[in-house]
Amino acid sequence: MRLILLGPPGIGKGTQAQRLQQQFGWTVIATGDLLREAMANRTPLGEQARTYITRGELVPDELVNQIVMERLQSLESFILDGYPRNLSQAQVLEAFLQQHGQSLDAVLAFELDDEAIVARLSGRRICPQCGAIYHIVANPSRAGERCERCGATLIIREDDQPDTIRRRLAVYRQQTAPLIDYYQQRGLLIPIDASGDPETVYQRVVHALSL
Ligand code: AMP
Repeated sequence: MRLILLGPPGIGKGTQAQRLQQQFGWTVIATGDLLREAMANRTPLGEQARTYITRGELVPDELVNQIVMERLQSLESFILDGYPRNLSQAQVLEAFLQQHGQSLDAVLAFELDDEAIVARLSGRRICPQCGAIYHIVANPSRAGERCERCGATLIIREDDQPDTIRRRLAVYRQQTAPLIDYYQQRGLLIPIDASGDPETVYQRVVHALSL
């Protein structure tokens, strides 16, 4: 299975990607996670990405394309979460897959109103160690302030602050939303209603993909 999860920040792509990975074993490539890891390790890539991420802007295409293509090289099944984020990335991905005789199976487009998205983003907590994703109301950790999987103290993402959230949503509308038409034209788009709890949304995903 080769899947793209498309949708505004905070809509729950990462949560759904982790569930699909747990159930089916498909590798998740989450560009935001990879960039945050590079930032935490203070690698040259991380240092370059930091200024863009903290402002809520997209990291330059050449940096992101490179980390994605390196990982896609040897994969038969994958879930892309947070990539592509604009038309130029989508074209690079399409060319890469064509070269390797591969094609996408589906693009899941998650949909939710802005008010609910902001509520999800402002209550989000993540585990800096294992990447688990929580929400203080909708999906709290059973270990309170700590990660229920690995015990690390949960944190608020640096870019989940009100001003940055607004900027990220604007960037999504301007640069990423045009991908909805792009994949619709290719017959790959499957809209997913992202309202409700993670389990409800997951059932919609499983149903939409006939899994
Ligand atoms: P995410 O975790 O997907 O919300 O990504 C967090 C931040 O990482 C974004 O706001 C961007 O600054 C950067 N980022 C993640 N994926 C991409 C991408 N495909 N292209 C450019 N920047 C990205």
